[in-house]
Amino acid sequence: MRIYDIIEKKRNNKKLNKDEIKYFVNGYVNKQIPDYQMSALLMAIYFNGMDDEELANLTNEMANSGDIVDLTRINGITVDKHSTGGVGDKTTLVICPIIASLGYKVAKMSGRGLGHTGGTIDKLESIPGFRVELDLDDFFKQVNDINIAIISQTGNITPADKKIYALRDTTATIESIPLIASSIMSKKIAAGAKCILLDVKTGSGAFMKNITESKKLATKMVNIGNKLGRNTMAIITNMDVPLGNNIGNSLEVIEAIDTLKGMGPKDFRELCIELATNMLVLATNDSYNICKKKVITSLDNGKALDKFRELVKAQGGDINIIDNYDLFGKTDYTIDIKAKDSGYIKEMNTAIIGKVSVLLGAGRATKEDKICYQAGIIINKKTGDHINKDDILATIYTNKKDIIDEATNTYLDSIKISKTKVKSQKLIFGKIK
Ligand code: URA
Repeated sequence: MRIYDIIEKKRNNKKLNKDEIKYFVNGYVNKQIPDYQMSALLMAIYFNGMDDEELANLTNEMANSGDIVDLTRINGITVDKHSTGGVGDKTTLVICPIIASLGYKVAKMSGRGLGHTGGTIDKLESIPGFRVELDLDDFFKQVNDINIAIISQTGNITPADKKIYALRDTTATIESIPLIASSIMSKKIAAGAKCILLDVKTGSGAFMKNITESKKLATKMVNIGNKLGRNTMAIITNMDVPLGNNIGNSLEVIEAIDTLKGMGPKDFRELCIELATNMLVLATNDSYNICKKKVITSLDNGKALDKFRELVKAQGGDINIIDNYDLFGKTDYTIDIKAKDSGYIKEMNTAIIGKVSVLLGAGRATKEDKICYQAGIIINKKTGDHINKDDILATIYTNKKDIIDEATNTYLDSIKISKTKVKSQKLIFGKIK
């Protein structure tokens, strides 16, 4: 077999077979195929795509390029969820405790912030003492004991994806639905869970900017999961406006705890209920309504909050933060951003708002940057809200005095105001099974 022939075949829009896919994935990981040939192949895939069978084969080869987490050591049904990335998206912190409180197993490996979007691991690390690195024996034991553990990706998971992603990043081939679908699903397959719920975000703060593209991506990922023997479903949800009110690591943990206490913003609680309900549907095959009732009960009777407390305690975190948010610490500067005009908020450029939170210190501009766990934004007015001149639109938190003006002006520029009433936004756009 020759890589030249594989590139030529895909360039001519022909279907690659399993052996050819195995050859180029392994060849690239083992450094037998150079970057320039892999780049040409990725560009051919970018233009000509891959069908469901090719994608399942590609995903399977990428998943098997490294360690596969063997969740058969866990007694019970394992459920995982994945969000394609958003601003203010702290759903994992609420829905995983709900699912665990109902008796199902959540053995979750999560990531750190990427670009303008946050990551669960950074959020958990904002809890003093919380350990995100457990060895696999402790990870499995904790899941068997309390139904839940959330750790950062360990070991040698999907090295093929790491290498291919880095190459895509420099060859303008990131924005390819088949390549995104196989990249995300290879990590989910390697992480081992039997049931996978995908939260595919759509809008200005998401990878996919419109619903048609989001549906295409969701359909590809669901087909890959199901073809590879995982019970998979996707929900398309709104990322044209930040989720909830708080952006930034400890601020998001606080909002998640508020929600577990039965408070929290309406949009965030509603999305958590929708995602947890569908995770339960995947795990049980019970009806949507039965599952939803169980989810709401777990939130309202405090069982999900108890499970969150158990999780924090098991991973060494200070559980006193749950009742005393001051223990998270504070930033040096707290500044209100005030409206310059009256009217209705018509649009919030959510990616820009995510970038403002990175600028404040809540995320990393480069991999080496240290983040400030307390930095971020509390939003006071969102799309559809009426505002008067000088109303507080948001409050920003930072230790970096020199960026305050830039952050304030960028935040103001990210918001469009209209004189006429604006329709409030839909939260959930559909489900792909
Ligand atoms: N997230 C991933 O893991 N891979 C992609 O290709 C895009 C987003």
